[in-house]
Amino acid sequence: MTAHGQVIIVGGGIAGLSAAYDLANAGIPHTLIEKQPRVGGVIETRQWEDCVMECGPDSFLSAKPEAMKLIQELGLSGDVIGSKDDERVTYIQRQRKLVRLPEGTTMFVPTRPSSMLASPLVGWGTKIRMGLEFFRGPETHRDRSVSEFVTDHFGRETLDYLAEPLLSGVYGGDPDQLSVASVLPRFVEMERTQGSLARALMAARGSAKRSEPLFRTLKSGLGCLVDRLAAKANVVHGTAEAIQPQGSTFRVRVNGDWMDADHLVMACPAWSAGELLCDIDSRLASLLRMIPYTSSAIAQMVFRASEFDGQHAGTGFLVPRTERKQLMACTFVGTKFPYRVPVDKITLRCFFGGAGNDAVLSESDDSLIAIARAELRTILGLTAAPIFTDIYRWPRSMAQYVVGHGARLKEIESHASAVPGLHLAGNAYTGIGIPDCIRTGRQAASSIIRQPV
Ligand SMILES: Cc1cc2nc3c(=O)[nH]c(=O)nc-3n(C[C@H](O)[C@H](O)[C@H](O)COP(=O)(O)OP(=O)(O)OC[C@H]3O[C@@H](n4cnc5c(N)ncnc54)[C@H](O)[C@@H]3O)c2cc1C
Repeated sequence: MTAHGQVIIVGGGIAGLSAAYDLANAGIPHTLIEKQPRVGGVIETRQWEDCVMECGPDSFLSAKPEAMKLIQELGLSGDVIGSKDDERVTYIQRQRKLVRLPEGTTMFVPTRPSSMLASPLVGWGTKIRMGLEFFRGPETHRDRSVSEFVTDHFGRETLDYLAEPLLSGVYGGDPDQLSVASVLPRFVEMERTQGSLARALMAARGSAKRSEPLFRTLKSGLGCLVDRLAAKANVVHGTAEAIQPQGSTFRVRVNGDWMDADHLVMACPAWSAGELLCDIDSRLASLLRMIPYTSSAIAQMVFRASEFDGQHAGTGFLVPRTERKQLMACTFVGTKFPYRVPVDKITLRCFFGGAGNDAVLSESDDSLIAIARAELRTILGLTAAPIFTDIYRWPRSMAQYVVGHGARLKEIESHASAVPGLHLAGNAYTGIGIPDCIRTGRQAASSIIRQPV
């Protein structure tokens, strides 16, 4: 035992594993408690024949450095691949047809007027409104929903056919609930300092040189990252069932047995941390439980390229909620990244779930495949039968930063910092992407390592 004492990490997703990695490197004893038989949380890679199948996330944003930095430290830089941005074309369903996302659209903000003007995705009223947005002056608002923000800048149609489907793809969230300040802080800053988002982004685009791919991943899948981290972690598979104070330290019940901890890293979802921390700080526990989560399911299907009789829809398509039955989005995996699918096959990833649609998770595998195939037949005209299918379900896995998240987070941080030895990490707080989760895990480890001994 070192002078730092024993650390217990609850949750073996990327946040918990990143914390364990740094603690192990610093020689600080830790135990990572993971309730599933495998670590990685929502990150899992499977292989079928020569296809690499991502069950959850498939990549990370290049613009956020934390994932690349960790990958470099793990000696995996040689395995990094970038998204095929030259082939990047996204479609959005409108009146049962797939319409190409106009070039130069950053999220829902048009930065190339000619392509937006020529697009049938939105009508002339919206196009005129987009043009007028260019002349807005700086404004400051209280935290408001993404829906209010987008409608205010570009009108309702932009919300329905651009913002909502694009954000559903990232958050599985409801824009009427999501906080613009927490989800799109960069846009709020542009509104505050410049007013027009279109003008601000056009100016930024003019000066920026894009040399790196938008997304990066690992050749054999993100599971490699998990495996490398797990090799360093001291993992105990079991469920953290209760946590109690013990003088100035803690004890954690894992599958009926109590374990002592001087430091606790809560790297499980906030709803789970909230259930566990009632005896430590009841207000903190209830604040954590207030963070909503959405669920999702992915149906992955592999087709023989020679039999694929549907429309080839670029990198994939999004179905806006105004047009949605069950399918939210579909990715053509081989168009997004190299090394995923051989040329004689086509892999589609179909996404279900999102805000208010947990019921889809209770559909059987066969039924999810049947739903996906029926919708693909309508949207792409695809009748071919897949030669392989796989289903992944991610219940209550995606934290939702709803209006007021910033204020709630401040209160959470103030309560957590008042409990010596308690650290929070994971996707519930300051970013849901993989780089954000790595950052929070490593910050938790760093604050333990930096403690005076
Ligand atoms: C389908 C999907 C696609 C995504 N795509 C992308 C993407 O392409 N790029 C990107 O950057 N991000 C993506 N994300 C988001 C990102 O992957 C996640 O936010 C991130 O991986 C979450 O990591 P985490 O460690 O916070 O939590 P998790 O991965 O959820 O891990 C938490 C772990 O805690 C464990 N646990 C919970 N309670 C207990 C308990 N009581 N005792 C013990 N263990 C417990 C769970 O079993 C789980 O393993 C995606 C998310 C999903 C669901």
